[in-house]
Amino acid sequence: MRKYRKTFVAVVPALLLCILAAYYVRDVNRSATKGIFAMDTYMEITAYGRDADAAVEAAAQEIQRLDALLSTGLAESEVSRLNQSKAGTLSADTEYLLRRCVALWQETDGAFDITIYPVMRAWGFDTKQFRVPAEEELQALCARVDTGALVYNETDNTLILPEGVMLDFGGIAKGYTAMRVAQIMQEYHIRSAMLNLGGNVQLIGARPGGGAWRIAVKNPKPEEPYLGVLSVKDKAVVTSGGYERYFEEADVIYHHILDPKTGRPARSGLVSVTIVSADGTLADGLSTALFVMGREQAAAFWRENSDKFDAVLLDESDCLYVTEGIADDFAAESGRPVEIIRK
Ligand code: ADP
Ligand code: MG
Repeated sequence: MRKYRKTFVAVVPALLLCILAAYYVRDVNRSATKGIFAMDTYMEITAYGRDADAAVEAAAQEIQRLDALLSTGLAESEVSRLNQSKAGTLSADTEYLLRRCVALWQETDGAFDITIYPVMRAWGFDTKQFRVPAEEELQALCARVDTGALVYNETDNTLILPEGVMLDFGGIAKGYTAMRVAQIMQEYHIRSAMLNLGGNVQLIGARPGGGAWRIAVKNPKPEEPYLGVLSVKDKAVVTSGGYERYFEEADVIYHHILDPKTGRPARSGLVSVTIVSADGTLADGLSTALFVMGREQAAAFWRENSDKFDAVLLDESDCLYVTEGIADDFAAESGRPVEIIRK
């Protein structure tokens, strides 16, 4: 009897310990995924860690909140109300985003311009009732495209839009949203997560096993699904391409990234631009801006700002370019030649 008791005393705590350890491991390895439709695109959030479920729920709520604030497609959004009434007080999110957009407009020499919205509308990108506007119409509209014409009053936090000026955060909203969600993940102590907000990928930490995430860079040509694979941690990977949203008329493709100087879909020679940066908001804005700039200007811009981002560019002749900072982290598909853009 005594012998049994001794065994019992030794085995039970050991068993309890095992059960506790199993629970702990199960909790740490917990993962949660959620798909949602917002900002006119399909989004997917995956988080790993003890509070993965709660984190993913909070992330989805944040995405819906920002969608309701920043989408021109929603009549009641903050941006729609600003566009309608031409004046208003800004929420903290919009104020931050506006500031970033003004800086980007300056730095990109106007290639990124959120006052492009009246031109987007003229092409029918807002309603999907597409049309090709006449040259005079585009010239008249482009004359009003000017972020510099916005009047922001810091003391009472109000913005005034001159007549004919309308805002469109479509080129940057997903990047900003990804940054906000990354902050939420931190609040939930999630060390590993992947957000895919319709082509805007944001990585939090490393893969659950500890290695770098492997992110495929899409090829606009359907017969070859991707251009290569990027190995990255803790970064945003954002791609802009003319193949994402477009319409065709008389055998010509008209896409949704406009050159603010002409009011026409940018024909810079680039067909796809991928930006890699720790700053998701910047990555999204620059993916649009560098697409407008074209390869040479984009390369010059990168040389000036190589501490802030890296890029993968594909041009119309199917040539692939990668900036030096990520040259070792990019594996091109099936021996595809890559030209490295150096400082
Ligand atoms: P996507 O939204 O397909 O991920 P982008 O990030 O390149 O692609 O954003 C394109 C969107 O940005 C357009 O739908 C429009 O709302 C807006 N946009 C288009 N041209 C410009 C521009 N030159 N500057 C700023 N925003 C733009
Ligand atoms: Mg963008």
